Amino acid sequence: MTVELIHPWTGEVDYRYDYVGEAEVERVLAAAAQAAPGWAARALDERGALLRKVACALRARKDDIAATMSADMGKLCREALAEIEKSASACDYYADHAIDYLRDGAIATEAQRSYVTYEPLGCVFAVMPWNFPIWQVFRFLAPGLMAGNVAVLKHATNVPRCADAIADVLREAGVPDGVFGVLHIDNRMAERVIADRRVKAVTLTGSERAGSAVASAAGKHLKKCVMELGGSDPFVVLDDADLDVTIPAAVASRFGNAGQTCIAAKRFIVTPGIADAFVARFVDAASKLAVGDPMVDATTLAPMARGDLRDEVHAQVQRSIEAGATLLLGGTPGQGASHYPATILDNVVPGMPAYHEELFGPAASILRAKDEDDAVRIANDTDFGLGASVWTTDKARGEAVARRLQVGATFVNAIVRSDVRLPFGGTKTSGFGRELAEHGIHEFMNIKTVYVA
Ligand code: NAP
Repeated sequence: MTVELIHPWTGEVDYRYDYVGEAEVERVLAAAAQAAPGWAARALDERGALLRKVACALRARKDDIAATMSADMGKLCREALAEIEKSASACDYYADHAIDYLRDGAIATEAQRSYVTYEPLGCVFAVMPWNFPIWQVFRFLAPGLMAGNVAVLKHATNVPRCADAIADVLREAGVPDGVFGVLHIDNRMAERVIADRRVKAVTLTGSERAGSAVASAAGKHLKKCVMELGGSDPFVVLDDADLDVTIPAAVASRFGNAGQTCIAAKRFIVTPGIADAFVARFVDAASKLAVGDPMVDATTLAPMARGDLRDEVHAQVQRSIEAGATLLLGGTPGQGASHYPATILDNVVPGMPAYHEELFGPAASILRAKDEDDAVRIANDTDFGLGASVWTTDKARGEAVARRLQVGATFVNAIVRSDVRLPFGGTKTSGFGRELAEHGIHEFMNIKTVYVA
């Protein structure tokens, strides 16, 4: 089947490619299986040296790759450059730290010696989304390669050139054939790959719908999987928050990457003493964002990645308004292929899509709480559990509130972000398993017990 990609800004057909067939799937899986033992047997510092070369190659090609990201999914050029640097840093980080993370761990028992040792699993199949098309891949790939695993990537259909760019970078850096493969395949073929005995584990970043399908397939074949799924993160603003700090953070978190970020703040939960001031300043700041060509410096709000995604967010906004939400800003699709303006809905309450569903675009929901306890109750009143932030000048109070939130990561007076040094992942329907830090590298390893009596 031929896929046609529409440029998110121009609306014109920008690229065409074909899904690969069974012969190519077989070639890539066979190459991965063949490369796996040799890669696992390499010394850690040899794998680390190659990963550092990957980081250099990424940095050397950053301008080309950033333009590719903009063309595939509309990312602002400066956001793309930052994403590439973050990916390169993750390679450097794991090259530096894997030796500590993978050291045998002694455990005292009555035995003469007892400990855990970490062994690679083999080939990890990765199903990745388009929203951070380079970072999401390196987030699993950098620790995975240092762990001694090999990887096969099925990227989202709308970012094929990003997938190919990653393969080129690894090849240029000298990563051996078969250690990383790309498959341009549809979701039906992805299920067959999961079933293949050469694939030992599966990682997915994407929606709950995709997560449910992929985790079911992995479960059917008894393969370990990690699921990084959607979120509707609360951004809890307490009465004593410093709005000079809070407002720029709210705008950056909700509208960066055109709102298409799993850990973006999506539900702004405000307590009565600050609600009106927060809303007025938030609307004012968001109204200054300019939708435009993602390659132009003056653009501060990227177009969304695809027209159908824009239409989906617009429908959620419309249905919320029909159910009684107050439209304070935006709400009318732009003229172009996939533009959507910064949109803010106030008085969002249960029963509205904006209350229960993830708004994966530049649309913010304001939820008015009665007090701090009510803010915590509302923050937890969701099926999602990815991240959360709390804003207050009283850090101890912020920390106490943060500890009551049912999510995988809480930040006080800082935007929720992924950081290679900190574990990342969700709870509830936002997924299971962890990426990054020491926890992430152990996810796809055999944690093997050795006991010498
Ligand atoms: P998506 O539609 O779920 O797609 C994600 C990936 O899954 C794509 O490669 C997609 O392939 C594939 N896929 C979809 N259905 C599948 C199936 N039945 N079998 C096998 N593969 C399947 O998600 P998206 O629109 O790209 O990304 C947005 C979602 O991802 C949001 O909900 C966002 O919050 C979440 N996300 C989560 C994190 C996190 O770390 N927790 C990070 C980023 C994004 P095709 O493109 O070919 O359909």
